[in-house]
Amino acid sequence: GGDGDGGEKPPPQRRVLVFPLPFQGHIDPMMHLAGVLHARGGLAITVLHTRFNALDPALHPEFRFVPVPDGVPADVAAAGKIIDVILAMNAAMEASPAAVRGALASALTEDEDGGAACLVIDANLLAVQKVAAEIGLPTVVLRTGSAACLRCFLAYPMLHEKGYLPSQESQLYMPVPELPPLRVRDLFQTKISGHEMLCEVIARINETVTNSSGVVINTFEALEPTELEKLRGELHLPFFLTAGPLHKLSSKNSGSSLLHQDKGCIDWLDTQPPGSVLYVSFGSLAAMDSGEFLEVAWGLANSGHPFLWVVRPKLVQDCDSVALPEGFEDAIKGRGMVIQWAPQQEVLAHRAVGGFWTHNGWNSTLESIAEGVPMICRPNAVDQMMNTRYVENVWGVGFELHGELERGKIQNAVTRLMDEREGAEMRERAEVLRRKVAECLESSGSSQVAVDKFVSYILSL
Ligand code: UDP
Repeated sequence: GGDGDGGEKPPPQRRVLVFPLPFQGHIDPMMHLAGVLHARGGLAITVLHTRFNALDPALHPEFRFVPVPDGVPADVAAAGKIIDVILAMNAAMEASPAAVRGALASALTEDEDGGAACLVIDANLLAVQKVAAEIGLPTVVLRTGSAACLRCFLAYPMLHEKGYLPSQESQLYMPVPELPPLRVRDLFQTKISGHEMLCEVIARINETVTNSSGVVINTFEALEPTELEKLRGELHLPFFLTAGPLHKLSSKNSGSSLLHQDKGCIDWLDTQPPGSVLYVSFGSLAAMDSGEFLEVAWGLANSGHPFLWVVRPKLVQDCDSVALPEGFEDAIKGRGMVIQWAPQQEVLAHRAVGGFWTHNGWNSTLESIAEGVPMICRPNAVDQMMNTRYVENVWGVGFELHGELERGKIQNAVTRLMDEREGAEMRERAEVLRRKVAECLESSGSSQVAVDKFVSYILSL
């Protein structure tokens, strides 16, 4: 009511704190989840965020923001390697928990409402969970990868005991019968950091998950039914929910892009025939060498297909601004567009887009599935190989581009996806999956029901 109308005060709002890991593929799903809890559940939201990749509170006037000192040394922050940042952040927070305690306290005490019910954290923030436990604040984990990936994490000690990991060159194509359909090469691995560091990160994720009150996974029931059933038997938590694809559940753009999204590409897509454009992006972190970059450029140019290619700073190793090869822009005039960063979800939903050449980060994979777009897969590290395995082998909505990057091979892959019968069949299967996404988003669909359960859980605390 208006000023002085004597109307009753609305009931106090319960507040939820959220703390994403400050990387693009982790921030977006968390901000979408926060948006859904706010818009559908009527919950107030406080976002805890670090100075490293800090979010812009002005873009989210409906949320409150509290900064948390992250303690990431300047050189680690500048290099921006995810495994190194995760370990440095946790180490600093464990060394001075008072800083985290202070931030949580200020998020809690500022509250004139019904008080904070719980803290939703990224699985990589064990140090934060420990502090929350000390002050009696329940934590819920948001997993931003697939259910298959979480199973792989939980199986990590077994995979070492049985000798699958660290992987040997000669065993890469050996199946892992405990985690079908994965082979050794599909297991969670990294080319960037040492294996021991990765083991430490995963052990921490497992500890965070098993010490939480519950887990929300950014996937949906119909996509990974077998993996979800197994996980439910393996994890004994008060609740375990699948609320994906989160970007489709929340009604607006997460507004959390760390790079400026070039919306001009949408006008360009508007001028292209339906299903004709190949969208090419390798996510926020993957990098290639300059030789590979040349092959991609000329492979795309020679393919004869319209394409939209994201060439972000650092796509070529150690290159802050990447230069296109000489003659390239003339060669692709009117047919190809290169931008630094795309409004990817909008691009994939555009009728002109008929295929996605992706590194198969989980967000990109899910975004492609949500719009029924088939994929050329070029996985690089972490969970990307297993995502490719599912895309190719389980869902049949894409295929891997193997071996060295070479322009002729790239050209063939584009033709296979965009022009050939096989590509058309992948597109049909992608359309079937897209309809399953639409079903899980209906009012009684599995992901909506999961959100309702999550809101009632929060209100019960
Ligand atoms: N993305 C974007 N514009 C781009 C490329 C990517 O907005 O030009 C977004 C994409 O929609 C996705 C995220 O960045 O949500 C990348 O996450 P993903 O898990 O696919 O890969 P990562 O960057 O973590 O390797």
